[in-house]
Amino acid sequence: MESYVFPCEIEPDMRQIAAGEIPYMRTSEFSDIVKECERNLLALAKCQGGRAIIYTASGTGAMDAVVTNYVSAKGSAHVIVGGSFGRRWRELCRYYDIPATSTEVEFARDLDYDALDSTIAESKPAVLLCHHHETSTGQRFDLQKLSAICRRHGVSLVVDAVSSFLSEPLDMDACGIDVLVTSSQKGLNIQPGLSIVLLSAHLNDFEFAHRSYYFDFAENLRNLTRGQTPYSPATMLFLQLQERLRRLIATGGAEANIERVARRARHFRELCDKYGWERPAETPANCITGFFVRRNADRLFREMIARGYFIMPGGTPAYFRVAHLGEQTDAQLDALAAAIHEIETTDYGK
Ligand SMILES: *Cc1c(COP(=O)(O)O)cnc(C)c1O
Repeated sequence: MESYVFPCEIEPDMRQIAAGEIPYMRTSEFSDIVKECERNLLALAKCQGGRAIIYTASGTGAMDAVVTNYVSAKGSAHVIVGGSFGRRWRELCRYYDIPATSTEVEFARDLDYDALDSTIAESKPAVLLCHHHETSTGQRFDLQKLSAICRRHGVSLVVDAVSSFLSEPLDMDACGIDVLVTSSQKGLNIQPGLSIVLLSAHLNDFEFAHRSYYFDFAENLRNLTRGQTPYSPATMLFLQLQERLRRLIATGGAEANIERVARRARHFRELCDKYGWERPAETPANCITGFFVRRNADRLFREMIARGYFIMPGGTPAYFRVAHLGEQTDAQLDALAAAIHEIETTDYGK
């Protein structure tokens, strides 16, 4: 199978890491791996002097951790709801009884930043919960503008960058981002199973709440000081993470990776235009291309699997998404688009 979902294609030697010898985690050697991962994650996110908690959990685990430890200590939130991941922030606040107001954004539209500014001036939330890239629609929100609004009103900025990490420019310190969330199978393009919370140095003395045993920041940070996790980590995934971060840094860092992802996205978008597939995102992120096919949408997902391709169905009828992380050549993208076009134009005799 060729993968245009998360994760996308992973280099064979990177995948092989998972088949190697399993390290024991309570050793100084494993502590060194954890500390190296933390250092490199903070460097790539430009979060000087901050901390990186790496959980054995999917991305939602890190979101949950942020809400129980941070948002609940701060007391209230405003949520940007641009799709299913924005709804998840709101559901988490409701689940943990944290007062939260929200701004709904239409499918694949950008925010009205002036309206948001007024809303926040009035509701005065302690925290803004948002997404850099709303993966369900392909829409990228403007972090600079969100950051300016937060600064103007003294609101703490929390960003879910699960899918935008390393495919969009990011500078946590310059943007004043207090907390950032990402996970292994998206921006980092390794196997699913690790989720990451990056905490700005501004929070080094913050009194986090204690409402989640497994995800407790204070307990995790205490262990992290010596390069350990309180509970059994997914050791093989830490080895992949270590190697991924090393490779990223050795091949030009975040900037070079962003350019690689953006280049693939540009190529595939030209193919969408050629075949007449509407791309709804107002300011599309590099990470995925979302598009509407014109015919045979009900068959496309399974027919693509039969041809050896995983692409993502969207929640909206006839809407599909192709991710641009991982290795993909122009020729592969040409063949992918040609396969979609062929299915779209086949007469299945209904
Ligand atoms: C994938 C994703 C998540 C986390 O989803 P999991 O299924 O828990 O890994 C969170 N936010 C965004 C924007 C995502 O794309």
